[in-house]
Amino acid sequence: MRYIRPHSLEEAAGLLAGSTGTAAILAGGSDLLVRMKGGFIEPDLIVDIKAIDGLGEIRETAEGFSIGAAVPCALMGESAALKREWPGVVEAARLIGSKQVQGRCTIVGNLCNASPAADSVPALVAAGARALIIGPGGRRTIPVEAVPTAPGKTSLAKGEIIEAILLDRRAPRSGDAYLRFIPRTEMDIAVVSAGVNLTLDEQGAVESARVAVGAAAPTVLLVEEAAEVLIGSKLDDATLERLAKVCSGACRPIDDKRGTVEFRRKVAGVLARRAATTAYARAGGK
Ligand SMILES: Cc1cc2nc3c(=O)[nH]c(=O)nc-3n(C[C@H](O)[C@H](O)[C@H](O)COP(=O)(O)OP(=O)(O)OC[C@H]3O[C@@H](n4cnc5c(N)ncnc54)[C@H](O)[C@@H]3O)c2cc1C
Repeated sequence: MRYIRPHSLEEAAGLLAGSTGTAAILAGGSDLLVRMKGGFIEPDLIVDIKAIDGLGEIRETAEGFSIGAAVPCALMGESAALKREWPGVVEAARLIGSKQVQGRCTIVGNLCNASPAADSVPALVAAGARALIIGPGGRRTIPVEAVPTAPGKTSLAKGEIIEAILLDRRAPRSGDAYLRFIPRTEMDIAVVSAGVNLTLDEQGAVESARVAVGAAAPTVLLVEEAAEVLIGSKLDDATLERLAKVCSGACRPIDDKRGTVEFRRKVAGVLARRAATTAYARAGGK
């Protein structure tokens, strides 16, 4: 096994593109090392991206935020600007594992591990986040929901690396929120989860919305019909009831020891409703 710690993205992408056998990118290692120790994967090449200049930084620009692929989730919680503009995204990142895990893990690793239960992903999908990718063909940007294609699988081509996650500047009168259900208070994987991001018009009615549900299908679901339910409303009870129904109906969950299909469907609706209420309040809705 070769372990290489390149200092530029171009070098990292070149190593991955030219590799034969199994290659893996190492960010925080909180999934990769667990899978290696469990004997599920034995890479011939490991490309550690943590020494690449700029990848460990959160950059604030006129357009928004660029969260480098090596930024540990703990650092996201220390960015006052990011917390102020994207509280739902930060709260999702800060739910992952424990303080120790958050000191290592990244949202890009969370996305690329492609678990339908990944905590940061519904919040990022609701936020309309994009993944900036570098690879042999140059750079491209895609919506985060286009990265995971199935459990454990992504749409990234050989040699491609996610350089950063891009979030827009928060629009006026808007807010986001993320909630998950786990049977205990921490160190558990979401049984089901929901992220909501919405913007209000000057009268306080929802003008635009994005609703995502996690751990309820092979990949995180962007529930467009749920957004349509919210638009034009001030989140009255009837709207919230319809939102819950639509989100429950969109789920295609599995039945396992952590939750039945019926339970996951029901709780997806409950969480979407609660997340929408919090996002609405954060947007200044009354
Ligand atoms: C004790 C424990 C508790 C956990 N609890 C939770 C939890 O509550 N919620 C939750 O969602 N997850 C949880 N996890 C899973 C884990 O922490 C996350 O999925 C983590 O965010 C992965 O990030 P990482 O930087 O550690 O990724 P790594 O392990 O380094 O990489 C993960 C995968 O992504 C790929 N990858 C990494 N970076 C890139 C990149 N820049 N471009 C392309 N591919 C890349 C890697 O090759 C690998 O396949 C837990 C893990 C542990 C060990």
